[in-house]
Amino acid sequence: MTDRSSQTPGPSGRTYLAIPGPSVVPDRVLSAMHRPSPNIYAGELVDMMPAMVADLKRVALCSGHVAIYIANGHGAWEASIANMFSRGDRALVAATGRFGLGWADAAARMGVDVEVLDFGRSAPAEPARIAEALDADRDRRIRAVLVTHVDTASGVRNDVAAIRAAIDAAGHPALLAVDAIASLGCDEMRMDEWGIDVLVGASQKGLMLPPGLSFVWLSDKALEASRTAGLATPYWDWKPRTAAAEFYQLFGGTAPTHHLYGLRTALDMIAEEGLEQVWARHRRLARAVWAAFDAWGVEGHPIGLNVRDPAHRGHSVTAARIGDGGGGRLRRWLETEAGVTLGIGLGMALPTEPAYQDFLRVAHMGHVNAHMTLGVLATMDAGMRALAIPHGEGALAAAADALAG
Ligand SMILES: *Cc1c(COP(=O)(O)O)cnc(C)c1O
Repeated sequence: MTDRSSQTPGPSGRTYLAIPGPSVVPDRVLSAMHRPSPNIYAGELVDMMPAMVADLKRVALCSGHVAIYIANGHGAWEASIANMFSRGDRALVAATGRFGLGWADAAARMGVDVEVLDFGRSAPAEPARIAEALDADRDRRIRAVLVTHVDTASGVRNDVAAIRAAIDAAGHPALLAVDAIASLGCDEMRMDEWGIDVLVGASQKGLMLPPGLSFVWLSDKALEASRTAGLATPYWDWKPRTAAAEFYQLFGGTAPTHHLYGLRTALDMIAEEGLEQVWARHRRLARAVWAAFDAWGVEGHPIGLNVRDPAHRGHSVTAARIGDGGGGRLRRWLETEAGVTLGIGLGMALPTEPAYQDFLRVAHMGHVNAHMTLGVLATMDAGMRALAIPHGEGALAAAADALAG
């Protein structure tokens, strides 16, 4: 094993990866994974699964089904597409940033006829425009509407319930599929109540695990519709995974042994805190981050949040701009001088454009608390001083007030 301190000269103390995935893995989760390989034919691991499946459905407030995949989020995207569509079927994608476009691209490459409604990179999807597109689909070729709950690149959060209402008002039979990879376990998510048919998630964000597992939750309607979906291949087919007679069928092969122990602990931690309390904690921490940016950006300083209206911002990641290349300089200073790694700006400018260096993202996702988030903000404040980046005063007091309020 290499000693990481010899690889990365720089700050002493614990480093902090504040990027929107992978997120911080709790020590309790790491400890749960630190064990000899378990028996995969009988015993504890096999016996753990019924409760695990029930608890996984509980984090999404889903009374339907869940399929587990040994894959990252891109795998869950592909699984969802494979089970909803046949070649030539139509998908309506409401994109509000890079991740919505990524899901659309995966569908197109799998042979789905994709219609993208692009709402830009700083505003939510408009339900009325989705309804219009569904109305125009006279011969009902659209099988599903795909929308990202929180787009991790733009920070935009979409009103999923309003989109469902628009689909219903249009009287269209399309499924509603939602990418909650960045928001599940952070932002409020009510799959049943909001009328979501297909929900995708991944382990390395709000669920506080290393990358490697992803999940697709589905309604009875989605399960029924999938019986005629021609794109499903043996590995991605969710039907055997949601009706597994044998343990291995849950995973389409060998179980992700250690991840399952980690997942058990992560789900316990969420249940111990309470789902609503988890959402409230993320809301408070997000407000602290936003308050700091608002203070830094006063008096015409080129510092600001990507999404103007707080009601349309996700609570797990904040996308921001610090002009004149300040975003890139601040990120580098934080990493080398302070042991904090912030997220790069994603999809806001090409890496070859100077503006690329203006964007950054701060994650406040999963296993985070006030001292971690306030620590990041204080370190950013220090970095702006060290780099002489012009900024407004009072950001830390504003963040503290937001947290206390
Ligand atoms: C992270 C993320 C993805 C992609 O997940 P990977 O694990 O990187 O494949 C997709 N959608 C959203 C909203 C994400 O945040």
